[in-house]
Amino acid sequence: MKCPRCGSSDVTVQAVVEHHLVDADKKKHGILWWIAIGWWFAPAWWLLRFAFKWVVLFPLTLISKALGWGRGKRYEMTNETRAKAVCQTCGHVWEP
Ligand SMILES: [Zn+2]
Repeated sequence: MKCPRCGSSDVTVQAVVEHHLVDADKKKHGILWWIAIGWWFAPAWWLLRFAFKWVVLFPLTLISKALGWGRGKRYEMTNETRAKAVCQTCGHVWEP
């Protein structure tokens, strides 16, 4: 393999693990889910969450805000391994 920038053949290929932050709250449902469950489940779930929010979470949020607690967003860590070529002569990095 040759470096596309400087033409040197002194190239090493290494596996690079990339970290991605995925919003755990934004998981999507398929069309079948909406046909089978979503049309009644979503409003029911929304009502339940709405009730839950006002009955339980709202006072808790007020209390936690009064006490100075932070309520962070939930994130999930995913790893993706990619092969990357690194030129030892000029330091150019690319995906082969
Ligand atoms: Zn190079």
